Amino acid sequence: MKIGVLGMQGDIEEHLAMLSKIGVEGIRVKSVKTLEEVDGLIMPGGESTTMLRLLKLTGLFDHLKEKIRNGFPVYGTCAGLILLAKDVSNPVQDSLKVLDVAVSRNGYGRQIDSFHAMIPLSILDGDLFDAVFIRAPIITRAGNVEVIGTYGGNPVFVRDTNVIASTFHPELSEDTRIHEFFVRMVENAVSH
Ligand code: GLN
Repeated sequence: MKIGVLGMQGDIEEHLAMLSKIGVEGIRVKSVKTLEEVDGLIMPGGESTTMLRLLKLTGLFDHLKEKIRNGFPVYGTCAGLILLAKDVSNPVQDSLKVLDVAVSRNGYGRQIDSFHAMIPLSILDGDLFDAVFIRAPIITRAGNVEVIGTYGGNPVFVRDTNVIASTFHPELSEDTRIHEFFVRMVENAVSH
């Protein structure tokens, strides 16, 4: 099994390091060809505008959208979640529209650029996860998704079948449990 990390910009190395820490092969995905070599994809935090432009330039945008619709497992973190969302505001931006949420970019404002919080997550049986938020989006509407965790009354981690997405950065903590969860999702998808 191989897991890809969308390799255009952002927290690529950090996700690859997490995967290697849990003994899973991870590779950078920057083309349709490398996307075809992986069983699941992590879309990292960074600048969603830059990633969106490069997704379109490389042809990955349409290809990835189609694959996700057909059950390909993806995990979007922060900017990655923005790219997956159905509606993006502040400012309005195009997206893959495969996850039924609306997000407002940089939703916590300029005063609070980054912070972390201990958040109970349903996928960890309610155990706490130290979540790091950096210029994070706020999920302003959660439609047909399962809410895995909330902070300050807003969902911060959601799932719809083969898609999981968090507004925070699990790759910036020492805790590998969310990556392990995603790897199990990918294993299940591969064996079906
Ligand atoms: N503010 C960034 C964006 O809108 C996301 C920040 C992040 O991924 N840490 O794309």
